[in-house]
Amino acid sequence: NFFLKVLHIVIFPYLAHGHINGFVNLASLLHNRNSNFTITFVSTPHHIQSVRSSSLFSSAIRFHSLPFFPELHGLPPNTESLADLKVSQFVSFLHATKSLQPAFDDFISAVAFDAASHGTKVAIVSDIFLGWTVEVARKYRVSHSVFLTTSCYGGAVFLSLWINLPHTKTTSQRFSLPEYPDVRIHRSQLRKEELEQKWIDMVAKSLQIPIFPIGPLIGGLNPASPTEATEIIEWLDLHPPASVLYISFGSQNSIQKNQMLELELGLEASRRPFIWVIRPPLGFNVKDEFKDEWLPAGFEKRMKEEKRGFFVHGWAPQIAILSHKSTGAFLSHCGWNSVLESLNSGIPIIGSPIGGEQPFNVTILVELGVCVEVARGIMENSEVEKEKVADVVEMVMGDNEKGRFMRERTKEIRDVMKKAWKDESCSSAKGLAEYLKFINCR
Ligand code: UDP
Repeated sequence: NFFLKVLHIVIFPYLAHGHINGFVNLASLLHNRNSNFTITFVSTPHHIQSVRSSSLFSSAIRFHSLPFFPELHGLPPNTESLADLKVSQFVSFLHATKSLQPAFDDFISAVAFDAASHGTKVAIVSDIFLGWTVEVARKYRVSHSVFLTTSCYGGAVFLSLWINLPHTKTTSQRFSLPEYPDVRIHRSQLRKEELEQKWIDMVAKSLQIPIFPIGPLIGGLNPASPTEATEIIEWLDLHPPASVLYISFGSQNSIQKNQMLELELGLEASRRPFIWVIRPPLGFNVKDEFKDEWLPAGFEKRMKEEKRGFFVHGWAPQIAILSHKSTGAFLSHCGWNSVLESLNSGIPIIGSPIGGEQPFNVTILVELGVCVEVARGIMENSEVEKEKVADVVEMVMGDNEKGRFMRERTKEIRDVMKKAWKDESCSSAKGLAEYLKFINCR
């Protein structure tokens, strides 16, 4: 074993479910790799509690709780998660995380002191949205890495735009257009498991940093209540193989009311059974008495009676649904966790990206031949058309050439993904070994 020093790895995700999920997987991966590592998972009280109670972790993993956010930037008191906020508050929330810096600094100071007295090393692994953690790492001279929980293609597009933006401090009127990452994937890359290598190389070259691919990481948090989960699985058991469409827009996003109504009409027309993790549309809240405006009671009742539609009004056991034999396709906002979970189960995707890097994820998926895009965005003028919903559902799930091709291709990608961790010579296993060697030598 090449490890020179025992590591204390401090894991610090952004305060949003999708990010925490990825970091939970990372912490488990590191612990399973070497149980001598000390691993501390840092977050705010609510998130620590949900990670702890999901009991995914070995008791060897420690937790460190930072304080609640102070009332800052117009955010409601005790805000701890993006899911509690409006889309327009995203930037305020991002800035508010900086209020955690003094407490994080105190913690790292203690950890670094302890490590120095025991001759061990500290490595911080934080989220791309917590850039200020770099200052803390520099102050205590400990290693700092960023764990990207999104696709590298999405990261490459944002980076390319950022590098090429006419920044406010420039006096020049001229700027060059970004080098747009090339999306094409050749079959030879599939065979070599190098789905993302081209974009990894691009980002590594622009930033002059090493990048270690360690995906796909799948699993993570699943707070679905066991009763609800059993009911959903029993409902799926009633249906023939690959016949049910699963619909979810992730852990925090919603769509517009008009889009929701069109989607309902499209599903009605498609006549395929579906499970929909439904959340009130933008502008409505969970206890809203105007529910009939976006999910007419008659529609929900009829779908239920005809065993055609199951509405989940809370949290769905997504991985269990995607790996159930009755599930045939996933209508998804294409957050990266959802994408990986779907492909890992060999389930083709109907893309309805909402924001962030999701549209770029759809671009890759379409290039790979495992996705058809049905709609985009949440603006008032971004239409979801019922006819298109019905047509795309039929194209992806039905017995036709395109559908058959997509299903085969998705299974091929699933097999490629499984190979990434098959043995020590495979891409992600190698990436992890190289990363650990790298932080040990710094
Ligand atoms: N998820 C789930 N049940 C739900 C909604 C979401 O298990 O009802 C999980 C899903 O399996 C995934 C994560 O939450 O692991 C969502 O992450 P993703 O990157 O897809 O989207 P985000 O929520 O970050 O937009």
